Amino acid sequence: MNFELTQRQQLVRRSVRKFAEDVLAPVAPIFDKEAKYSEDIVKELSKINAWGIQLPEKYGGAELDSISYAITIEEISRICASTGLMLTVHNSVGAFPIYKWGTEEQKEKYLYDIATGKKISGFSWTEPNAGSDAQGIECIMIQDGEDFILNGSKIFVTNGAIGSVLLIGTRYKKENGQSGIAILILEKDMDGYEIGQPEEKMGMRGNITTSLYFHNIRVPKENVLGSLGEGFRIAMLTLDVGRIGIAAQALGIAQAAYEHAVEYSKGRIQFKRPISQFQGISFKLAEMATKIDAARLLVYRAAYNKDKKERFSKESAMCKYYAGKIAREVTQEAIQIHGGYGYMKDLPLERFHRDAAVTTIYEGTNEIMKLIIAQQILRGNL
Ligand SMILES: Cc1cc2nc3c(=O)[nH]c(=O)nc-3n(C[C@H](O)[C@H](O)[C@H](O)COP(=O)(O)OP(=O)(O)OC[C@H]3O[C@@H](n4cnc5c(N)ncnc54)[C@H](O)[C@@H]3O)c2cc1C
Repeated sequence: MNFELTQRQQLVRRSVRKFAEDVLAPVAPIFDKEAKYSEDIVKELSKINAWGIQLPEKYGGAELDSISYAITIEEISRICASTGLMLTVHNSVGAFPIYKWGTEEQKEKYLYDIATGKKISGFSWTEPNAGSDAQGIECIMIQDGEDFILNGSKIFVTNGAIGSVLLIGTRYKKENGQSGIAILILEKDMDGYEIGQPEEKMGMRGNITTSLYFHNIRVPKENVLGSLGEGFRIAMLTLDVGRIGIAAQALGIAQAAYEHAVEYSKGRIQFKRPISQFQGISFKLAEMATKIDAARLLVYRAAYNKDKKERFSKESAMCKYYAGKIAREVTQEAIQIHGGYGYMKDLPLERFHRDAAVTTIYEGTNEIMKLIIAQQILRGNL
């Protein structure tokens, strides 16, 4: 077992960290306060090839391994979790399925623009009546000659406002009268595609979340991803990949809160001593450090298994479950260590805590992560 990062992975960490500290640190609090993102940042991210982290070079991607991908999301999220969200969704649940299950024509048509950030992508499954119960989607497409006519709506769509290529889950009628599930590649400029108002959110405010409405959209058959009945299976495999990114995001947020807490505890004097010298505080730091290390190992192991083409459903659910959970705990303890100052918006601690909260919810809640882990264990994948 080798726990060392390769030279390339170390270089990725150094360069992405520098980018995040130089470019994102000044804007992260503004994005949060004003609930906005910036086109300039989208362009800056293109310069470091962050839109096609794992896509092949022939499509303009950086063709990095999955650990480098996790490191990139971790480092970006350490400074600006909202930008980390935009990137992880685009790279994992947006770009990856097109690369993995797309036809050559679909790859040629979409991947270059996706890898270079000309088109932002997303994955939209959740509906008002279908959250954790992903099979409950009600969007419906009906065949009409060589096309499908799509109707329905989606909620809570990350990159919904800025995405121009969205993968959406929909039902269709099979010949035997039963319904199946398919994934369609939708483009924002299709007639009948409507973007809802931005949601007012607790955290991740620099990432715009919207609903999407589909009114009789005519979608050519060529826009089906994979084969018709394969939609649900593709979605589940895609989420296995996506969860590594969300876990890396949670890890980055926890790391940021922890670093602030260590620094603050060394400088804050009470009872004529730095508060770090009180065991009540130093033990908190010890717990934070241990949890973060454990989460990092789980995230990198899931990424490693993915690259080795081994099973990683259990591992990705475990890393998402644990990293999200400890991100909530660590950010809360970091506020505690900062005392009243931690509660104020002048410092980023309360932002970290608000941002961390959703990492146990999206791409499958922590309850659903435990279901997946338990199912795997009981099937013999101990
Ligand atoms: C900011 C944000 C961005 C998002 N982005 C996207 C996106 O880009 N694309 C997308 O498709 N979705 C997105 N989502 C949706 C997200 O994936 C869902 O919110 C999530 O899967 C949970 O679904 P729900 O909100 O309907 O909760 P519900 O499924 O209604 O769950 C409510 C509660 O019940 C629990 N629960 C449900 N079923 C079970 C069970 N069987 N056993 C135990 N507990 C259970 C849940 O864990 C949760 O605690 C986003 C959500 C947010 C908040």
